[in-house]
Amino acid sequence: MEAQQNEMTAGEAAECLEFLKSYIPEESDKFIESALEYAASILRRVASGELAEAVHANLIPEYIEKQIDEHDYFGNYLYTKKVKKLIGYRCSNCGAWCTEKQKYCTCGALMGESDMCQTQGGKDDSHADD
Ligand SMILES: [Zn+2]
Repeated sequence: MEAQQNEMTAGEAAECLEFLKSYIPEESDKFIESALEYAASILRRVASGELAEAVHANLIPEYIEKQIDEHDYFGNYLYTKKVKKLIGYRCSNCGAWCTEKQKYCTCGALMGESDMCQTQGGKDDSHADD
């Protein structure tokens, strides 16, 4: 038994799968063969740089605190309250700033929040899902 390598490149992984594929007997299930072929082709595309591994990140909401003086009906000062106001979001991966929720950051990270808006400029996915 060979030791398991964790640091394997996509190209090496593709070669492994293609090697494995050559061991599948002719008469066996074609699904396995096509699955290996498909996986290898994806890995080849990753290796060539055509596909990048997805980076997942989160949008971190940022707030500013505003102080608002509360007055009674006659205009007499009562107290000062602190109000949090959402001003935008920061990418947990690169720290980039955006004012609206978006699916992808400029760094390419896929945002993990479910309730997302369409990106501003760039990719146009105009299908309406809420
Ligand atoms: Zn980012």
